[in-house]
Amino acid sequence: MAVPLIFERSHPGRRGVAVPTPTGIAGQLADWVPAEFRRQSDLGLPEVTEEDVVRHYTYLSHLNYGVDTGFYPLGSCTMKYNPKVNDWAAGLPGFADVHPDQPPSTIPGLLFLLAELERALAEVTGMDAVSLQPAAGAHGELTGILMIRAYLAAQGDQRTTVLVPDSAHGTNPATAAMAGYQVREIPSNRRGRVDLAALRQHMDGSVAALMLTNPNTLGLFEDEVLEIAETVHRAGGLLYYDGANANAILGRVRPGDMGFDVVHLNLHKTFATPHGGGGPGAGPVAVKKALEPFLPLPRLVGNAETGWQWDYDRPQSIGRVRSYYGNIGVLVRAYAYLRSQGAEGLKQVAETAVLHANYLLSQVGQDYHSPFPGPVKHEFVLSLTEQKRRGARALDVAKRLIDFGMYPPTVYFPLVVEEALMVEPTETESREMIDRFADALKQINREIDENPALLHEAPHDTIVSRLDEARAARHPLLGWPQLKAEEESRS
Ligand SMILES: *Cc1c(COP(=O)(O)O)cnc(C)c1O
Repeated sequence: MAVPLIFERSHPGRRGVAVPTPTGIAGQLADWVPAEFRRQSDLGLPEVTEEDVVRHYTYLSHLNYGVDTGFYPLGSCTMKYNPKVNDWAAGLPGFADVHPDQPPSTIPGLLFLLAELERALAEVTGMDAVSLQPAAGAHGELTGILMIRAYLAAQGDQRTTVLVPDSAHGTNPATAAMAGYQVREIPSNRRGRVDLAALRQHMDGSVAALMLTNPNTLGLFEDEVLEIAETVHRAGGLLYYDGANANAILGRVRPGDMGFDVVHLNLHKTFATPHGGGGPGAGPVAVKKALEPFLPLPRLVGNAETGWQWDYDRPQSIGRVRSYYGNIGVLVRAYAYLRSQGAEGLKQVAETAVLHANYLLSQVGQDYHSPFPGPVKHEFVLSLTEQKRRGARALDVAKRLIDFGMYPPTVYFPLVVEEALMVEPTETESREMIDRFADALKQINREIDENPALLHEAPHDTIVSRLDEARAARHPLLGWPQLKAEEESRS
């Protein structure tokens, strides 16, 4: 590595801070620790100055890539730009410094905000009641399916199966299985939508729910959704809406009006919290009236006059799904985002997201095959089988894009498309940026014939090039000594 990392800057005797030698009671504290709990050997920390530490972490931070540094067209993940005013709101001391155990009477402002956010999300989704508790999309899914199970069980209805389309996000079947259901896959038709005839065949009294994403992960709107809803409901099943990526529908169409009974949203995708790297998120669930008694404990009840309380007296609730009341910072950001956009702004979000995706598809559609006819919603999927025949896989194209300073789109998902490249330009990018991306894709397509090594060896300018990704994920080297040993064993 070109820049020495902190362990290599270590110099015996260097100090960043001077900790005074404790005296008095503090000086005796160490004596109170029983001998067997005391450290026997040196910690082995690097000996560095404050300046070394600052430069080390600042250098590392510059190796990161994020929505604040560049284009990030990661399909099904909505990596869009998040306005900083929302971070400002979340950082206000009245929100950021609240202790989770503080009595409700001392935080009326925060509780007002949460109640208003619940109301706004109910309005946006066309549902009747909302819980902000789940901490992620998959967590919202599990909460939703557990509520469906409890709702059916309350009627003495023990169903065994959940239906999931073959284009669904992997969390959907995983959720259904975790909730104790058998998962049955519904095939897509030639138009990339749920095959209604196949759904009718699978739909019987054993089916608890159909989990659906709309627009689906191919970026296509399920235009037969009303027939789908009718089919499921007629057989006594419920409809679950995966609303992880809701930017294509905001202010235009609502899951509640399409016939869905339970919805989750990803506030960390659609509503102004950046995501990736496992940071805090929120996956609120919204339900129709009939499912309201099953929402997680506790519920926020009250109003501005009477004040707010946590209601634990809800015998049919599925119980708690998370400590306290969710990730407050993420919830405040979502509220600030909704208020700053307003109803008109949300509609514009959806229109722009859809316009950008269709514009980009029109720019690259000559060079890259799009397996389903458009128009699409907020994203689209390309199939790079023709490129593969010429010697470059979807992965090669994705890696080469890094050389252009752009984050690669999602690859090899959804599974129903061969050599898939899944692109979501998002509503926040400029026309110039989208054009630059289209130009990069077109240039890469030419390089396949002119200079294929450029693709196979990409990326060229990053600190590491091609990684064995499966190995990196399963055996990550996170400690400096392990990393150093690995480096030395290779050189
Ligand atoms: C991201 C995503 C999820 C899961 O959300 P997490 O917060 O990562 O758990 C579920 N469904 C779809 C369609 C998604 O894009």
